[in-house]
This record gives sequence, C-alpha cells and structure tokens, in this order.
Amino acid sequence: MYKIVLATANPNKVKEINAITQSLGVEFVLSPEGFDPVEDGETFEQNALIKAKEANRLTNMPALADDSGLCVDALDGKPGIYSCRYAHTPQARIEKLLNELKDVPFEKRGAKFVCAMVLLDKNGDVIFSDKGECFGKIGFEAKGQNGFGYDPVFIVDGNNLTMAELSAEEKNKISHRAAALNKVINFLRTNNFPEALI
Ligand code: IMP
Repeated sequence: MYKIVLATANPNKVKEINAITQSLGVEFVLSPEGFDPVEDGETFEQNALIKAKEANRLTNMPALADDSGLCVDALDGKPGIYSCRYAHTPQARIEKLLNELKDVPFEKRGAKFVCAMVLLDKNGDVIFSDKGECFGKIGFEAKGQNGFGYDPVFIVDGNNLTMAELSAEEKNKISHRAAALNKVINFLRTNNFPEALI
C-alpha cells in the first residue's frame, strides 16, 4: 500500500485519519522518533508547512501535516494558533475562555475551528494546501464528555449540542479536520494519485 508520513507524534491522529481514508488505498504512518518541529509560524498554514517539511526531511516520504485551533470572533480570532498555549491545561484553557467572554451576549459569541492541511511530495515540494472550518458559538458553560480541547464549550451551528456532546462519528462528519481531510482526499482522487506524490 502507498505510504504517506503524517507529521505528528500522536498515534491516535494516525488511526483517526487511516479510518477515514481507508478506501483510498493509502496508509498514513507515524513520524519517526526525533520529530520535534519548532512551530513558530504566524498562521495555521505556516505551522502545517513547518511540520510537513520536518516529517519529509526525516523520511524522504510524501508528508501530510495539519495544524488547527479555535478562532473566536469577540477576541479578534484568538486564541487561533495559540489555542494549545492559551493556558496550561485543557480545563484552564476553557475557564480562561469563558472568563474572557463572560460579558459577551450569545449572539456575539461566534467562533470557528480551523484546520490547515499541507501535503508535500517526496521531494518536499508543496502539492496541496487548504483548510477546513467548522462554525459555532462559545457557550456559557462546559457540556459533554466526548472529544478534547475546546469541544465542551463549542456549540455547533445548526445544532444545540456542543462538540463534546456529539459522538466521534458525528464529529468526524462535520469537523474542521474532516473538512480539510476531505479536500486532501478529493485532491488525491482527481490528480492521479499516487503519481502526484512521486
Ligand atoms: P492541533 O494543531 O491539532 O494539535 O490543535 C491545537 C489545539 O487546538 C489543540 O490543543 C486544541 O486546544 C485546539 N483544537 C484543535 N482541534 C480541536 C478540536 O477538534 N476540538 C477541540 N479543540 C481543538
């Protein structure tokens, strides 16, 4: 099976993506030991590119990277690329966010999850770069046990539930990561995969 290295040290991400892309005839593999890129870009796209380049440098394989986060309208798009560094723990990040928005009425609590994906061929050249988004509002309290990160406070548009109240299958249909990945899959399908990656 054709292999693409996924620019991550997280085996769960590899599992999740392989489950979605099963029918493509491609297997995503974990980045090797020593994968530790410095994510000092100023946008999701720049950080995804940094990660993809590092995975390609270490393996000489085609590489796919993602970078994601939460952008809140009332905070001018923050925490954005700093979503993971907004506070020290997931719980502290949620508390900080709810506190910053405590005086913001529901209709002004718009937010989106963003996921940028960059695909490199085996020479390290960018052959695809795009992003997926998922729109919603930040609730007034955390609800739900599923998912991770900001899921318990992200109320999905067109749905009265938070992302953490959806099952993994439901989240995987509407998430920013699924939207970005579907674009990558579409690209591979319409561009003579695997020739595009050689
Ligand atoms: P990463 O780029 O996928 O590692 O995501 C960076 C950070 O963005 C995570 O640590 C979370 O705080 C936040 N984030 C990204 N995707 C999600 C999601 O699907 N749900 C909740 N939080 C997310």
